[in-house]
Amino acid sequence: MNIIAKNPLRSHTVENGIAAYLDEIVALRHDLHRHPELAFREVRTSQIVASGLSSWGYEVTTGLAGTGIVATLRRGNGTKTIGIRADMDALPIEEATGLDYASGNPGVMHACGHDGHTAILLAAARYLAESGDFSGTLRLIFQPAEEIGAGARKMIAERLFEKFPVDAVFGLHNWPGVPTGQFGFVAGPAMASVDQAFIRIVGKGGHGAEPHRAVDPVLASASFITALQSVVSRNVDPQDMAVATVGSIHAGSASNVIPESVELKLTTRAFREDVRKQLEQRIPALARAQAESFGATAEVDYRPGFPALVNHAAETEFARKVAVETFGSATVEKEFRPRTASEDFAYMLEANPGSYLFVGNGDSASLHSAHYDFNDAIIAPAARYWVRLAETFLTDDNG
Ligand code: ZN
Repeated sequence: MNIIAKNPLRSHTVENGIAAYLDEIVALRHDLHRHPELAFREVRTSQIVASGLSSWGYEVTTGLAGTGIVATLRRGNGTKTIGIRADMDALPIEEATGLDYASGNPGVMHACGHDGHTAILLAAARYLAESGDFSGTLRLIFQPAEEIGAGARKMIAERLFEKFPVDAVFGLHNWPGVPTGQFGFVAGPAMASVDQAFIRIVGKGGHGAEPHRAVDPVLASASFITALQSVVSRNVDPQDMAVATVGSIHAGSASNVIPESVELKLTTRAFREDVRKQLEQRIPALARAQAESFGATAEVDYRPGFPALVNHAAETEFARKVAVETFGSATVEKEFRPRTASEDFAYMLEANPGSYLFVGNGDSASLHSAHYDFNDAIIAPAARYWVRLAETFLTDDNG
């Protein structure tokens, strides 16, 4: 893990190799973008990925978690195994980019760049099969249903890592707002846990002109929403990160009617498991107490999502060094900060050592925006990075 193959010439060979079929990969990325598929329905995408991998000589296993794929390639006598994962699913968003390769599937869009992540790993897969200089086992994991936080968990539940063990696993996400092709690494918590709370505050409906005969759930909700931010500011240690956001609130339909109930939907984020538990305990307690103080009641359905993504220190340092050796230190962010978004690769890092890294998407619209587009300019450097990461990891003398 501590020996990095210093071979800048090798890196340029890889660059030229990928450049030879970059147009094909970009065309493939646009094709995937035009045909986005929602979580667990990535049937067409999965077929395209599997047939490409088979044609390049990979041993391909399909059907993990439905549309998931694992492709294996062995070379030489090396005993180590590296896993690299890409996600394949799109989002239920109506695309508004106006691109000539915009989604042809109404209401579904690749608004997170998983089309790009798939294309990057395919570009690397082809190069590694045709010209890869490594000794050991390469496993490429194409995962469904990242957006609903279910694909990684399902693949693991279907014994992904028992059937296809790895010594370490890596993944990446493009990141808008970070300069194009700039790499970011974070040891420890890198992305947040995510949970949801569905809260119904129930009062007693009545005439808007006679509030004294009703129990107003709107007022109780307003009080709860204000008090909610005290959980982050007064209960959570100020040195820890926590987010509690009310993203949806629905009540009533007329100006002169006090409604019977109010429905709220919240998302919560944290980097630490104890903070996550604290939010899970404090938010329902606060909702109930606030409602009760107005004579109303609160029904709370707290739904666990998935844990924080925690990068392993040694593998993150290894991954960072490969980027520095491949592109130079100017291409690696000095201090990339953890992100409060979430990512179900967290489960793969609970099962194995590894690291999840970031590649700048440039000045694009944000992830999950109807105007977002993956930046094709990062396919070549990111694919070249995967190649060098695999080759360096799977070097005979890399003990
Ligand atoms: Zn994503």
